[in-house]
Amino acid sequence: MQEAQVHWCEVCNRGPAERIGLRSVSSRILYFNRWEVDAVLCAVCAEYSYLNQQTRTLSQGWWGPLSAGLTIFYSISNIKSIQAHRRLIPKILYEESELPRPHLNARRNPGVIIATLVLLTASIILISWPDSSLRDSEGLIIKQGELYSSELQVGDCLVQKFPIGDTEDDGGPYPVVPCSQPHNWQVFYSSNIDNLSGDMSLSGDMSLKFKASEVCEEGIIKQWSSLNESFFMTYEDSEVYLFYPSRESWEDGDRSVTCLLGSDAALYSDSLLDEKFQK
Ligand SMILES: [Zn+2]
Repeated sequence: MQEAQVHWCEVCNRGPAERIGLRSVSSRILYFNRWEVDAVLCAVCAEYSYLNQQTRTLSQGWWGPLSAGLTIFYSISNIKSIQAHRRLIPKILYEESELPRPHLNARRNPGVIIATLVLLTASIILISWPDSSLRDSEGLIIKQGELYSSELQVGDCLVQKFPIGDTEDDGGPYPVVPCSQPHNWQVFYSSNIDNLSGDMSLSGDMSLKFKASEVCEEGIIKQWSSLNESFFMTYEDSEVYLFYPSRESWEDGDRSVTCLLGSDAALYSDSLLDEKFQK
């Protein structure tokens, strides 16, 4: 009677064998394929099937919205299936002697490792991305936050006091708010030193600062001409402040100049881009 209870492997005909269900998914963003194993397998065939299904799922299953959900679901249920199978058949027979069953795991597969690294990198980028939601679809800042100087755009409003005279950009980040909230400074122009005409040979920091202020003068000429009397009254006591590249970032090719209008002493609740200031 004991003999009748032993199952034989559907693949290699050896025993003992037990039923196991495994699934896998592979995705090409727009479509995905699924595989299913539902068979009576011996320990070795079950381990190989598990390795195949799990490797395919963990390396190829992630790359679509629906299949990513299946990947999580399948990989967990595959682990449960193989663990149950390992409990049922803990030993294998080899030349008449019983040996502990080998365990094959997908974790060391290069495809699985690459997929894991890509997913980790993607999640780190997503987690460190919240600044992008500072802006609405038109690029206007809609809530309080912080931006690096390289992320600043014309129209952005900053709550910040700057040490007078020291205008070399340390990169930030700088606190920003929607311009309807009290703020000290607003970016009114940004451009590139290389866009200036004339002699570009720079010697020393003073010359770099001088070129940067030329950029902002150009910005004043361009922007002020479209603004009305009400603008000049509101910003009567304001000053111009500028960010320009440091020596190091200049060497790295940074040529950006950011021009700000405002004051350390006063708070403004308007934007110079407002309709009411336009001619
Ligand atoms: Zn087998």
